[in-house]
Amino acid sequence: MTHSCIFCRIVHGEAPAAIVYADGAITAFRDINPQAPIHILIVPNEHVPAVDALEADDAEWVGRLLIVAREIARAEGVAADGYRLVINNGAQAGQSVAHLHLHLLGGRRLRWPPG
Ligand code: 5GP
Ligand code: ZN
Repeated sequence: MTHSCIFCRIVHGEAPAAIVYADGAITAFRDINPQAPIHILIVPNEHVPAVDALEADDAEWVGRLLIVAREIARAEGVAADGYRLVINNGAQAGQSVAHLHLHLLGGRRLRWPPG
């Protein structure tokens, strides 16, 4: 089965990506248009459109997104200097791919607040 969602396609090996982590529930890969030296997207393997679509029994794997992010940050060498985790939800936040994803950004000084 081919998927119409680009992140589903990456998760299922139907589209190329630089994958840095994968298990039965979560996949992480480098952003194609990086906004920092380290810019990795961490996604559920199941298609979930956005944070707004989450349900209470998603809590375990949602929590694991953060644990995977922590491990990747250490592996990529940005844990000591610091990094940022971002989830955009909906149009006004600039969500452009309707498959929930956690951005891991690091490797440079990050401005706050964001624009
Ligand atoms: P959003 O704006 O929805 O929070 O983030 C979507 C992110 O997905 C963007 O940073 C964009 O560069 C990235 N992206 C979009 N299409 C692809 C793709 O085909 N491959 C990869 N690796 N990243 C993508
Ligand atoms: Zn999807």
